[in-house]
Amino acid sequence: MRRDLQALSSDEFDVLVIGAGAFGAAAAWDAALRGLRVALIERRDFGGGASAECFKMVHGGIRYLQHADIRRLRSSCAERTALLRIAPHLVNPLPIVIPTYGHGRQGKAFLAAGMLAYDALTAGKNSAIPDPSRRIAGMKLLSKNQTLDLFPELEQRGLTGGAVFEDGQMYHTARLVLAFVKSAASRGALAANYTEALQFLWEGRRVCGVRARDVLSAGEFDIRAKLVLNAAGPWADYLLGDADHFPGHQRGHFSRDACFLVDRKPRSLHALAVPGWSKDSDAVVSRAARHLFAVPWRECMLIGVWHRLFAERPDTALVEEAELEAWILEMNDSYPALRLKREDVIYANCGLVPFGDGESTTGELSFGKESRYIDHRAQGIAGLVTVIGIRYTTARGDSARALNLLLQQMPGAPKAAPTAEVALAGGDIGDFEAFRSAARREVAARISSRTLDAWLRNYGTEFRALAAIADSPAQAERLGDTDAVVAEVTHAVREEMALKLEDVILRRTQLGSGSHPGSIAISRAAEAMGAVLGWNEARRRDEIEETELELRRHRAAVPASQGTGGSR
Ligand SMILES: Cc1cc2nc3c(=O)[nH]c(=O)nc-3n(C[C@H](O)[C@H](O)[C@H](O)COP(=O)(O)OP(=O)(O)OC[C@H]3O[C@@H](n4cnc5c(N)ncnc54)[C@H](O)[C@@H]3O)c2cc1C
Repeated sequence: MRRDLQALSSDEFDVLVIGAGAFGAAAAWDAALRGLRVALIERRDFGGGASAECFKMVHGGIRYLQHADIRRLRSSCAERTALLRIAPHLVNPLPIVIPTYGHGRQGKAFLAAGMLAYDALTAGKNSAIPDPSRRIAGMKLLSKNQTLDLFPELEQRGLTGGAVFEDGQMYHTARLVLAFVKSAASRGALAANYTEALQFLWEGRRVCGVRARDVLSAGEFDIRAKLVLNAAGPWADYLLGDADHFPGHQRGHFSRDACFLVDRKPRSLHALAVPGWSKDSDAVVSRAARHLFAVPWRECMLIGVWHRLFAERPDTALVEEAELEAWILEMNDSYPALRLKREDVIYANCGLVPFGDGESTTGELSFGKESRYIDHRAQGIAGLVTVIGIRYTTARGDSARALNLLLQQMPGAPKAAPTAEVALAGGDIGDFEAFRSAARREVAARISSRTLDAWLRNYGTEFRALAAIADSPAQAERLGDTDAVVAEVTHAVREEMALKLEDVILRRTQLGSGSHPGSIAISRAAEAMGAVLGWNEARRRDEIEETELELRRHRAAVPASQGTGGSR
């Protein structure tokens, strides 16, 4: 991946994609796979918006059974299948237990009926997944004792057992976005991070590109394209603020979604779903309240998700200290055995996602159902489609739909690309467990098993590029007392367009994507990065400061003994 702003400003592209979250990155990959000349620009870093903040669930759509929305259920399931197939290193199945109580809607029979119906409606879900370790198991019922074996501290009064279903889980959300970007680049797409679309270029009522700004140098230039896809997520509306061209355009409603990570080693590989306090107002068959989830992720536990109407600019979304306290209270009420304390929380994620349509100012939750598509031909504007994504899970399929809408304006354009089948960068693996065993035999003498395991999940087949760099002892050196090594920083800069220290810490490696890695690791990463990019002392200090700021924004707890920490 080369950040070639010169080529961006001099070529003319078939499709320019604005925004490299899951949706923009997937759209760029799709368009490149169709053989189109593609440019992809991102104002910050790839995956640095809502996509990196996600709760990591790849939803198979079981919840839409409650809404009797079978079309959406099947399409969500198909997207989960696609991700398990094309990115088996970054996505794995996750069993989720719902404890059952009594004989009503919390009861075993009720849940079993629902889950059996789901299994029947999604009968072919595994046929496209060659890897047995990435297939989704059917529903299972647990006895009371089996449930208590997994979660010994569950409330036992009235407990009859549990019902288990599986969903998918992402290992590293920003790296999954990057896998789409790298795949697009491998098919000729030109991608550039820290490149912001300022405004559209016009030929009459046709959009023909954007005026762009190199965020790092503040230099401005034009990018010309036959068609433009606005995939700027919660920021997409702001590009439509020009009242001369988009009269009457109104920003949609958004929810500030949030979750947090707890420094508790999960007792089991199963996630636990418990009723929270808020209701799902759209449910046809409501069990009680919306579920909160306690989910094992890497070596910690993820808890969420909370939703709140939010009308401010996306950049101002934060998790407030008081909210965190309130959520801990709610989670302790839903699952008292957790006995969560504020100091257990080591990381918080938040971002904006579209909210339900219509007026919703009462705080009564009405969740967004579909990604929003705007074909601007309805306003007499050619060459532009906007898509605002609702779920990371559906980014691949929804961005294909947005692209199809856009390509209606390009006679003879390829109709579709096999993005549900072609493996993403690093994902051509076959059988993950066999791949892991072979990789261990290949490099075990040089690379620790913990480091290698993280590489295999984050980089898939590209782990060999890291192993080659780590051949030199200086590159094999660990960063602080984490499992990450210098070679990961070097690789991120040389091969993955990491330009700032925070790109490396939060999005290329797993150092700061779920915890504060400790100041020694950050400082060593800054040195290694500075060595490749020629940073002086002042630049290194600034980069460290910005990275710490970003970690503070995530309320990342600095490890108790300064300088230590784990890349969880
Ligand atoms: C806390 C939380 C939990 C969630 N949990 C889940 C979950 O478990 N499963 C699930 O499927 N979904 C989940 N979601 C939803 C999911 O994360 C989002 O729907 C999805 O990531 C949106 O992707 P996107 O590409 O549309 O937006 P984004 O990821 O926000 O990408 C848009 C990009 O556009 C860039 N941009 C903005 N303006 C410009 C400009 N002018 N020029 C260039 N670039 C620009 C931004 O910097 C950003 O990177 C969750 C969301 C949150 C916040």
